[in-house]
Amino acid sequence: MSPRDRERYSRQILFAGIGEQGQQHLLDARVAVVGCGALGSFQAGALARGGIGFMRIIDRDYVELSNLHRQWLFDESDVEQSLPKAVAAARKIASVNSDIRVEPVVADLTPSNVEDLLGGVDLVMDATDNFETRYLINDFAVEHGLPWIYGAAVGSYGIVMAVTPGESACLRCIYPDPPSSAQPTCETAGVLGPVTALIASLQVAGAMKILCGAERMLPRKITTVDVWSGEIRQVAQPGPVPDCPACGRREFPYLNGERRAPVSLCGQNAVQIHERARPLELRDLAARLSPLGAVRANEFALRFEAPPYLMTIFPDGRAIIKGTTDVGVARSLYARYIGA
Ligand SMILES: [Zn+2]
Repeated sequence: MSPRDRERYSRQILFAGIGEQGQQHLLDARVAVVGCGALGSFQAGALARGGIGFMRIIDRDYVELSNLHRQWLFDESDVEQSLPKAVAAARKIASVNSDIRVEPVVADLTPSNVEDLLGGVDLVMDATDNFETRYLINDFAVEHGLPWIYGAAVGSYGIVMAVTPGESACLRCIYPDPPSSAQPTCETAGVLGPVTALIASLQVAGAMKILCGAERMLPRKITTVDVWSGEIRQVAQPGPVPDCPACGRREFPYLNGERRAPVSLCGQNAVQIHERARPLELRDLAARLSPLGAVRANEFALRFEAPPYLMTIFPDGRAIIKGTTDVGVARSLYARYIGA
């Protein structure tokens, strides 16, 4: 370790749980941060300051004004320049810690690129906004014995759990399948900055324990917090469930792309997402979306204007998104407004 590193990380090295050897492990570590919104930007900033030697930041979105109340790493100039979040994060981090390596990747994590993007890292940070990507991370992590840290936040509520394949339950041990109904999202239910920072902090603390060789200090609990009611709850995280489809039976449908909602181009400037078996209550969805844009709904379909896009959503979960031929944009809009 260089004298500069010894000085920079001195307060972390002084901490008995880490020490100089632990710090060296952090400097040698490679981490992928999947998603760079509120959770991911906080994680990336905190891990960079802590001296994680290599970070790959994966996100396809651009910094928007409505992100700034909770996405600590970004500022107004990022919004003005419409920078991709991954790129804006890498630039900001370079001014905070120029001694570490950051690789920004402007893309969605998908079954076709997961091997390239998550291969060769020591740990994966979940900062996604949708279950499809989380189950993909879980499949990949379980198959390769890679630890990852699940985290999510919406409204004033958040949840966090570390997954260490072979030792702890995985995501599918606890939730064998993704939720089958529409979920609240930050776009429809709002989100508070403090809950995202709290969840991301707990995720970063978990990551540091795993990376510096103090995995035994992981709480082995599922922690949920509500910063508005002030409630913090923990339930024991079980060990691996023997007949879990992922870590028990080693079936990886998300990795193979079998569970990915199929998408097709539809007309000249539209994409159709064929969600399977996902009944939606259109009246509830209309109530949720109406503050955000013009909504017209009957029992057969709901039309929602999110300029420049027009979404038509059907009771079986299918949606047609007009105004784009980009499948990634369509998936992202679906995740934002319907919850995926
Ligand atoms: Zn499992």
